[in-house]
Amino acid sequence: MGLFDKFKERLKKTHDNLVHGFKRIVTISPKFTDEMEEELEMLLLGGDFGAQMSLQIVDAVRKGFETQGREGLDVFAVAAREVENELASVDTALKRQAEGPAVVSLVGVNGTGKTTTSAKLAHSIKTGGGSALLAACDTFRAAAIDQLKLWGERLDIDVIAGAYGADPAAVAHDAVAAAVARSVDYLFIDTAGRLHTKHNLMQELAKVHRVMDKQLPGAPHETLLVLDGSTGMNALTQAREFNKSVPLSGLVITKLDGTAKGGMVVAIQKELGLPVKFIGLGEQADDLQPFDAAAFARALFEE
Ligand code: GDP
Repeated sequence: MGLFDKFKERLKKTHDNLVHGFKRIVTISPKFTDEMEEELEMLLLGGDFGAQMSLQIVDAVRKGFETQGREGLDVFAVAAREVENELASVDTALKRQAEGPAVVSLVGVNGTGKTTTSAKLAHSIKTGGGSALLAACDTFRAAAIDQLKLWGERLDIDVIAGAYGADPAAVAHDAVAAAVARSVDYLFIDTAGRLHTKHNLMQELAKVHRVMDKQLPGAPHETLLVLDGSTGMNALTQAREFNKSVPLSGLVITKLDGTAKGGMVVAIQKELGLPVKFIGLGEQADDLQPFDAAAFARALFEE
């Protein structure tokens, strides 16, 4: 299945909600009325596009009605264009190091999909002919260590893990040493989930990063915040708080296959100015996709 087809299939909930809504609203009247404006705005807000982006799309549709009239207007193309223009086309490729491993740290609150995403990323590197190592730095939960080990076995990728309750910075240290010794291309660090409001836990995360940087200057080379696509705009607060403790290089938005709120991808990138690098579209190893603004916009709005 091509990238666009997968986007379209997995973003179906958001897509169907938007397309049915648009179709109903544009038939209310041949002229663009206040009622249509209100309903369209509600529809977009409900899809988590955020206030600004919702208004922008409504404005573009109103202009379309005024200049072209309803008959000549493709409202879906208008909305898709607005969304695509808003999303920066970012280079989603993970930074590689000229020498030595590139370290990628995955951070976020509990249950957003960090462990799964670490495994999926390592898998995509391996599939592309590169080498990867995984580190289980979520030492607070024995189940998290086991979960990553299981992924490692399944994907045939080595996992560096400490004991349950071990110091996560020590595990990260061992993992960097192993990655350097084995000269792998990428080391993915699965960190423990933590609430962005817990100061001591955020400090601990910063410490894990400092330890790695001391050992391998520049590490982690990427810090990806993993956000659950179905949590809506609360993700914004999470992103701002994490960014204060550990500077983020990009976002991963997961579980977009299970929500009608896919608009949050647009809102969050617009609000934060941080690139969405990958999106999670399912639970399997190959269900993580590099983000593509044009394909995403079309998948949301194409009839
Ligand atoms: P963590 O606590 O952040 O490490 O989260 P996990 O990686 O353990 O993921 C939590 C749950 O979300 C698991 O059941 C995953 O299978 C599921 N999950 C992760 N990413 C996705 C996704 O993109 N789509 C769907 N449907 N489920 C996902």
